[in-house]
Parts: sequence; structure tokens; C-alpha cells
Amino acid sequence: MEDLKKKIREVPDFPKPGILFYDLTTLLKDREGLRQVIDLLTQEFEGKKIDKVVGIESRGFIFAPAIAYNLNAGLVLVRKKGKLPAESISAPYALEYGEDVLEMHKDAIERDEQVLIVDDLIATGGTAAATVQMVLQLGGKVVALAFIVELGSLKGREKLIGLEVFSILTY
Ligand code: AMP
Repeated sequence: MEDLKKKIREVPDFPKPGILFYDLTTLLKDREGLRQVIDLLTQEFEGKKIDKVVGIESRGFIFAPAIAYNLNAGLVLVRKKGKLPAESISAPYALEYGEDVLEMHKDAIERDEQVLIVDDLIATGGTAAATVQMVLQLGGKVVALAFIVELGSLKGREKLIGLEVFSILTY
């Protein structure tokens, strides 16, 4: 895991002063690093009968399709407000200053489908919690949430009590 951590570039003060940004582009361009994270996430959820993998805009879109393909599941997109063309449901989530809204198509998930939620990184957990809310609203079952990176000190898990949270790397 330390080898994988070395493949993630840490950029101080991006996008604003005081934020340490975990830049996964350096992992993505590394063929072994990319294969390793996709394989680890696939192995973790193989045999758990996942019907849909939900990817969160925008960096969740990098990983969710490969995992969905490997698990023989469908892919669902959670997008920022105003991007989805058909009838949608929405959930607000907290930003550092104020609030924004995530959306999902109303017909994206069927009742009782087994759902895996994927994003690149969990920080405060606000984005993930808003996504859980929409999956539950459509009657889906959240089997787990999966991330490449978890920022432990921001306690994102505490917004996801009772749910399985899997992350490959914790900082
Ligand atoms: P949160 O809702 O606070 O858990 O934020 C998670 C989302 O913000 C993820 O989609 C990440 O891509 C992004 N994010 C938050 N903090 C960072 C960070 N320090 N480095 C890279 N991405 C981040």
C-alpha cells in the first residue's frame, strides 16, 4: 500500500490555500497502479451480487465503469445539478461555503437492487451521504461505498453510520 501511496501526488494549497489535494492522475498514468486499484476494488465486491455501481461526478466516473464492467453490473451516474436530461431526483450536499445539489435519474435504480457507490476520495463524507440518500429514495440497497483514498481526520465515515465503507488507502 505504501507503494500505491507513492504514486499519488500531493499538491499543497490546491484549489485554495490550506487544502492538500490528492492528485490521482499520477496513479492513473501508471499501468500497474491503475490495474492494482481496479483489481482491489473488484476483488472486494466479487460475489456480493452487485446490480448497479453508482459513480459520483466527476472523479468517481474514472473508476466506477471499470468496476461495474468487472462485476457484471450496470453503471449509474450521479451528476451535478442541471446536467441530467431526464426526470431526476436530487439531494443537497455541503460545500466548504454553502451548498450544492447532486442528481440522479429517477429510473436509474429499481427497488431492492444491490448498489455499490464509488468515488475517488472521501473527505467530509457529504457527497457520499447525499448519494446514499438518493439510492435509498429509489428503493435501492446500499451494499457498500468504495473509495481509493479516505481522509480519516475528516471523519466522513461518521456520516455513513451503519453502512460498509471500504477504502484502499487511508491518510
Ligand atoms: P466530501 O464530500 O467532503 O467527502 O468530498 C469528497 C469529494 O471532493 C470527492 O469527490 C473528491 O474528489 C473531492 N475532494 C475533497 N477533498 C479532496 C482532496 N483533499 N483531494 C482531492 N479531492 C478531494
